[in-house]
Amino acid sequence: MAPRLTFLGSGDAFNAAGRGHSCYLLDDAQGSFTVDFGPTALAALKRLGRNPADLDHVLLTHLHGDHFAGLPFLLLDGCYEHPRGRPLVVGGPPGVEERVRALARACYPDIFGKPLPFELRFVEWEVGRPVDLSGRSVLPRPAYHQDLPERAFLLRLSLDGREVAFTGDTGWSEELRELARGADLLVAECSFFDSDYDRHLSHRILREKLPSIPCRRIVLTHLGEEARLHAGELRELGASTGIELIVGEDLLSVEI
Ligand SMILES: [Zn+2]
Repeated sequence: MAPRLTFLGSGDAFNAAGRGHSCYLLDDAQGSFTVDFGPTALAALKRLGRNPADLDHVLLTHLHGDHFAGLPFLLLDGCYEHPRGRPLVVGGPPGVEERVRALARACYPDIFGKPLPFELRFVEWEVGRPVDLSGRSVLPRPAYHQDLPERAFLLRLSLDGREVAFTGDTGWSEELRELARGADLLVAECSFFDSDYDRHLSHRILREKLPSIPCRRIVLTHLGEEARLHAGELRELGASTGIELIVGEDLLSVEI
């Protein structure tokens, strides 16, 4: 069975059009994990009837709240609601452990007062260094989204012989073509319709770049209000250039 991607959320930081924060559940032969985990992610998992304790990893593209601030609730759920047996590995930018622990402590000051009943491990991304997590390969690339010392990443994953690429949050750069090259599925953010802000992708940028992106299946995510309203036009542009372009929707599930 081919691995699957399910949208736990498809909206931007502002929950545009009532959508959850962009976050993805991946199911493969080894089990399940997520890419990003915003504040609405746990609710979406439960809407799907999934047990949060079954997740092996949470792979973070960057440390903006809409992409990682659901983790304190996942940790708490693993302590009390669905006691977790298996370890949880959180991958993310340099400093990920300190940020996640600080956030969890700000929410629940005594959360680390005694040892968690499960192993919590952290892995830091380095540009161009592949990480193997239980047979799943993760290749981080640089995103164009934040100023140092903050760092955002594009992630390319190999799962059961299939390739899926995530832009996370980023403006346009040539790295995106390399990220997408030959992938079975590209999960691309499209925050804006017609904006000059260059640290997110927009409808305008994608219209210009879409024909040259070396991937034939693209799913749009992180959609702001206007970008969602006009997403049908991108779908039509995709069709005219031989690209299957899917508009992301909360709880939508696609084969990779
Ligand atoms: Zn961001």
